[in-house]
Amino acid sequence: MAKKTVDDIQVQGKRVLVRCDFNVPMKDGVITNDKRIVAALPTIQKLIADGAKVILCSHLGKPKNGPEAKFSLAPVAVRLSELLGKPVVFADDDLVAGEKAQAAVAAMKDGDVVLLQNTRFRKEETKNIETFSKELAALADAYVDDAFGSCHRAHCSTAGVTAFTSPNVAGYLIGKELSIMGKALENADRPFVAVLGGAKIEDKLNVINNLLEKVDTLIIGGGMAFTFLKAKGYEVGKSLLDESKIDYCKDMMAKAAEKGVKLLLPIDTVCAAGFPDPIDGPVETCVVDSDKIPADMEGLDIGPKTRELFAEAVKSAKTVVWNGPMGVFENPTLAQGTLAVAQAMADSEAVTIIGGGDSAAAVEQMGLAAKMTHISTGGGASLEFLEGKTLPGVACLDDK
Ligand code: ATP
Repeated sequence: MAKKTVDDIQVQGKRVLVRCDFNVPMKDGVITNDKRIVAALPTIQKLIADGAKVILCSHLGKPKNGPEAKFSLAPVAVRLSELLGKPVVFADDDLVAGEKAQAAVAAMKDGDVVLLQNTRFRKEETKNIETFSKELAALADAYVDDAFGSCHRAHCSTAGVTAFTSPNVAGYLIGKELSIMGKALENADRPFVAVLGGAKIEDKLNVINNLLEKVDTLIIGGGMAFTFLKAKGYEVGKSLLDESKIDYCKDMMAKAAEKGVKLLLPIDTVCAAGFPDPIDGPVETCVVDSDKIPADMEGLDIGPKTRELFAEAVKSAKTVVWNGPMGVFENPTLAQGTLAVAQAMADSEAVTIIGGGDSAAAVEQMGLAAKMTHISTGGGASLEFLEGKTLPGVACLDDK
């Protein structure tokens, strides 16, 4: 169901609470990457231009026990002000929506911007307790959610607050995520190819199951491929293996066959005697066929034949969704598989979607980000989306 966006509401003179994702990396109080702040600008600028009183909120990090200076959003207010070219008032209120915040909001004129303190300074936030939701809602008339990275969590600022605000709509960032990923899952241009990798199969069980309902080809690489290889009866040596999921992998292979989905697994593997230590340190490798991994070796990347196989499948697609690296990409010697998939996606005319997290980091590290159709801003949220789950932060927004 399509959700209303900031384009569907009148905000002139209204107080609008915007849940942003300002969970930026910081070192010693300095923002080391402002990408998330930059990504939030279009929604904020639209609301300013429309004459709203723009009240921004976000979490930052994981404060455990209430307010902690190192998790203050004060540096974000400074950077945001520079990017917007106008003052951003920081409501430095440990209660987030307490008297100081109320006073800052009361002083706002149309087009002004206030940033509230870290929502996780209130312990109620992550428990979605009504008192804090009501306090947040009391500051505003309307609510805009633009924090895709947090919308798989039912917290006060991402979901609870909407019980007391109206209208509740999506910002441009969430709108884009929902329309691109929603189309891929519901009405993809075909062939539709999904590429899954990363370390833990456990995290992606439901994703595999759901994607088998949607895709034409499912490619599995990375550490999670070895449980599938084991399920095929191969020896996987010291490679990552989840014994408890072997039967699950057998079920998924049977499901793929039944549905006519092509399931591609690595046919050769780059092995080493052990995991590199440090992770990006020198490592001696050899390439073996995936059914001949020596008992004393560990598979750490897909081999050259597999790179070609996966790249061919990607090139023939009209839609490609990718989540999780093909190997230990943090090490240059073991990054070839991940690079091959990224390059095939970059070279393709297809709709290409990167599901956040490590694969997004890999694509950026390789300088290929601009070549992708969409890089999701939320690893966890995009995985839940691919699982077919209802995201609480989306479900609570008004339908079109
Ligand atoms: P996120 O959860 O942040 O979105 P992701 O889903 O992209 O990340 P993860 O499941 O967290 O991926 O796994 C990424 C990690 O998997 C990387 O650190 C990488 O080094 C590791 N990895 C990939 N292939 C292997 C392998 N064959 N053996 C061991 N580790 C591997």
